[in-house]
Amino acid sequence: MKSPTIVAAASAPGQGAVAVLRLSGPKSLEILAKGVRLDPKTIRLAPRRLRLARFYDAAGEVLDQVLVAYMPSPKSFTGEDMVEVHGHGGRAAVEALLARLLDLGAEPAGAGEFTRRALENGKLDLSQAEAVARMIEAGSRAELAGAVRVLEGELSQKLGSLQQAIEILLAEIEASLNFPEEPDLESLDLRSRRLEPLLAQAGALEQGLRRRVDSGAAEVVLAGPPNVGKSSIINKLSGKQVALVTSQAGTTRDAVSVELELGGRRLRLVDTAGRSKEMPAGEADRAAEVLALARAEQADLVLWVDDAWLAAEDMEKQAWGETLLPLRNKADLIDETQAENLDAELRALGGLLVSALDGRGLDDLSDLLVRRLDDLLGPADGLPLTTRQALAMDKLMAALRRAEKTLDHQVELAAEDLRSAMDAMGELTGRKLEPDLLDRIFSSFCIGK
Ligand code: GDP
Repeated sequence: MKSPTIVAAASAPGQGAVAVLRLSGPKSLEILAKGVRLDPKTIRLAPRRLRLARFYDAAGEVLDQVLVAYMPSPKSFTGEDMVEVHGHGGRAAVEALLARLLDLGAEPAGAGEFTRRALENGKLDLSQAEAVARMIEAGSRAELAGAVRVLEGELSQKLGSLQQAIEILLAEIEASLNFPEEPDLESLDLRSRRLEPLLAQAGALEQGLRRRVDSGAAEVVLAGPPNVGKSSIINKLSGKQVALVTSQAGTTRDAVSVELELGGRRLRLVDTAGRSKEMPAGEADRAAEVLALARAEQADLVLWVDDAWLAAEDMEKQAWGETLLPLRNKADLIDETQAENLDAELRALGGLLVSALDGRGLDDLSDLLVRRLDDLLGPADGLPLTTRQALAMDKLMAALRRAEKTLDHQVELAAEDLRSAMDAMGELTGRKLEPDLLDRIFSSFCIGK
């Protein structure tokens, strides 16, 4: 069955100098030719060239003066015959052109349908298709750079080469299991010859990834008792008056958030005042409470803020963990020696002493946030992975680490682990994805993409 010819506006809605409509499918040329009242043969003479034309309605009235281009299959984004119509960028003009194109036999495109067709026609693989979404969502130069690298095929190439290395190791193990008499496993020296380089390759790949890109900005939650200066810190860090600062306890009722860019990474600072009133008093209990809160908030990082003049209870390293960071604010209210000691103590726990009032420690706080998020989520300009891909990557790494343990003594298990690694690889590259998962992935795209 031939796929229908689809149409959608490729440019954002609203007023602009130019609006672009795209068609993809076998009837693209025919529809265009009717719309601009030209012979399809004439258009076909100059593929991939912009041509000035008038676009007519059914009654022969001019709807718009447009530039049109015809991109014959297979050399187009989707791999199908495609047409672009560049009209004037007003709402009425776009609606009129779109209505006429539908009238001439095109069908409205679904979310992400152009990219999906490109995927189905082998013009892109899934990681590249998802990179299209990342390109569009990129909010900083660093994020854009990472997405471009995926679109250019860097992730596909790296995954491909890792996959090949796993396949070779698995094949050698299987061969030795099937033909135990020759050559024996030890003399094959699979660990140093195959597995170690494989792990190094996988580790390097993992280091260069940026995780959790579906939610856009990394989520940094500020929690703590009322009136310790959470809103003031957010205001100072973002340089904007976004949160309500007040000297009355518990006035920020709803979570207030602000998005900013630090070190090329977008992050959202969220103030969770109000909810923190029921927090338990003990430091360790609080930590547990805050972690629960963090999970609820989907936070990547939680800053637990407290007053500097509060006696430091025994703060234990393990209570804080990777994603919880102790901050003490109002350093200006304690004396210098006290401040130095407290700051040292907090730094040992991965935290800091700051003052939202005089600005002390806030530059260090920015650096600390960037560093922590880099550690947790990968570099801002890393190759972006969606949550789905990041989970598959975790599975892949876990399987490889299991194989590392089993290879010497339980080689059958190692083979099994490597097969699991291959399955995870299939999920990562999209080779093993079910159609309904593809539906879900593309439904998050916007129409016209
Ligand atoms: P929140 O309830 O934790 O969000 O706290 P706010 O940001 O609303 O601040 C509560 C009060 O503490 C306000 O009166 C602020 O001006 C004050 N405050 C905030 N940060 C500092 C600081 O570093 N030093 C001093 N002395 N006061 C501060």
